[in-house]
Amino acid sequence: MESENSYRHLLKWGDKREEGISHHMAEVIRAKFSLTEAVFRSKHLPGTEPVKLEKPPMIKPAQLEFLRGICGSGNVLTDDLSRARFSCGKFYGELLGLRLGLVPDPPDAVVAPRTHEEVEKVIAYCSDEMIAVVPAGGLSSVTGAIRAPHGGIALDLTKHLNRIMTVNKVNKTVTVQSGMYGPALEKELNSQGYSCGHFPQSFEYSTVGGWISARGAGQASTGYGKIEDMLVAIRAVTPAGVIETKDYPRTAQGWDLFRLFAGAEGTLGVITEATLHIFNHAPQNTASAAFIFRSFEAAVETMRRIIQSECGKPHLFRISDPDETDIAFKTSGFDGTLADKALAILGFKAGSRCLMFATVEGERDYARFVLNKIKRKVRAGKGMYIGTSPVRKWLDQRYSSAYMRDPLMDLGIMTDTLETAVTWDKLLKVWKAAHEYVARRPKAFLMIHISHVYENGANLYFTFLSPMQKGNEAQDFAVFHRGLVDTILENGGSISHHHGVGRVLAPWMEGHLGKNSMELLGAVKKHLDPNNIMNPGGTLGML
Ligand SMILES: Cc1cc2nc3c(=O)[nH]c(=O)nc-3n(C[C@H](O)[C@H](O)[C@H](O)COP(=O)(O)OP(=O)(O)OC[C@H]3O[C@@H](n4cnc5c(N)ncnc54)[C@H](O)[C@@H]3O)c2cc1C
Repeated sequence: MESENSYRHLLKWGDKREEGISHHMAEVIRAKFSLTEAVFRSKHLPGTEPVKLEKPPMIKPAQLEFLRGICGSGNVLTDDLSRARFSCGKFYGELLGLRLGLVPDPPDAVVAPRTHEEVEKVIAYCSDEMIAVVPAGGLSSVTGAIRAPHGGIALDLTKHLNRIMTVNKVNKTVTVQSGMYGPALEKELNSQGYSCGHFPQSFEYSTVGGWISARGAGQASTGYGKIEDMLVAIRAVTPAGVIETKDYPRTAQGWDLFRLFAGAEGTLGVITEATLHIFNHAPQNTASAAFIFRSFEAAVETMRRIIQSECGKPHLFRISDPDETDIAFKTSGFDGTLADKALAILGFKAGSRCLMFATVEGERDYARFVLNKIKRKVRAGKGMYIGTSPVRKWLDQRYSSAYMRDPLMDLGIMTDTLETAVTWDKLLKVWKAAHEYVARRPKAFLMIHISHVYENGANLYFTFLSPMQKGNEAQDFAVFHRGLVDTILENGGSISHHHGVGRVLAPWMEGHLGKNSMELLGAVKKHLDPNNIMNPGGTLGML
């Protein structure tokens, strides 16, 4: 474990222990990028230095005193480490910055209110004093949504606002404070027979408020929906006052105002509580299956037919494209086995074959019924059932696989992800164009999967790896990343399906939404936040 005072401690995702990459993964990386033994022995830009900020806090002592008066002195921090921790999320560019000892946008202070009422007082005061406020959950944003270019305060919602308020068993909803992390929420719900149904890969280190604010999607979203589908009501503090919506099942009284806060990324106010649908917790009933297809096109076509057939929905539903399938087979040690050779003889050849995973949850009979329907459609689509163990193995590492990014960066490998939503009629076009774009960069490598599926389309999730351009890491990444976003958008994808927009994708907002729509967003913001204190400085393309 690195010193808790170091940049490395801040940048590391997940478990802070020093994890290496697996033997199989090391072999793949060594071969793909021609890495030498020396590279494996050293760490590129390890970020082991102690954190030291250049920017002193700009907030006035009297203002700090006032905030201490509201929240208690132990809940207002101005030390370098706290300010650096709340200065960014987990976007690749930010992690690179930390490795280089750069903290360009720290807040002046980190404030942790203890109650909804304290949030009200803090926001009213900050609005009067024109102090910028960045609401902060688990800091797992991968779009630059957590930054304080105007200084001000980061509002730590996880320290105190992290409890379930009520589980309403009659309405099957939970009302929860926004700073509660996924595992604590799920554990408490499980103990009462329920599940939250929302399992992003960042589940362990992200919060209810962050899920809603970035409009996230869990890994079983095909069945359970995205977070905005689960959202029933909201309690939020804005500079213009509190917005509290009711938990009616549906209404026709104008717009659903709680939806304004789904995807607002902290620009309108602070969500303090949310009411969400909950689901029965019955993992023993889950039916699962893995399939293999001869091509991505065949797998996608089958997936579309399944989701449009109205035979019931899988919860987890994924396809890994040939490159991702290849890596999955290599890193799991499957490559070269007898089973692998048998698959090749049957025509499921490396370089074109694709894995599909499905799980169905709910009543046991229902889960089996839907899975049987899926199996039948897979057979009709010339796919083959290959058992359940690949799904189990995938579920075992569903969160920890993301820990690999840090050791890869230690090897000088640039690795980041992007994601988009796209209709079925354009999906293959976006997939091909992204591969063509990445193939133009020497030694770059792209894996794509589909993991959230709808009647009219799906998401595409891109993971790219490439050796860093040493000495020019940040600029090289920025140019490459920009080109990939342009490619996705030009071919019909959306800016984001579930990561949100933040500051990183903000430059594409107006072109994508149009001027009038941007002005509408701006007008809503102006009404709720007239002094522009809420997460200002570029998030969602707002000033
Ligand atoms: C390894 C990894 C894997 C990931 N996998 C997924 C995935 O599978 N699915 C997915 O959807 N996302 C994923 N993400 C992205 C990220 O985890 C999500 O966007 C998550 O919802 C952010 O939650 P958070 O609590 O960390 O929020 P933060 O990062 O702290 O904040 C995100 C945004 O929400 C705002 N915000 C936070 N709390 C509040 C609040 N109470 N009121 C108002 N605004 C608030 C912040 O100001 C910021 O704009 C992943 C990220 C990482 C690093």
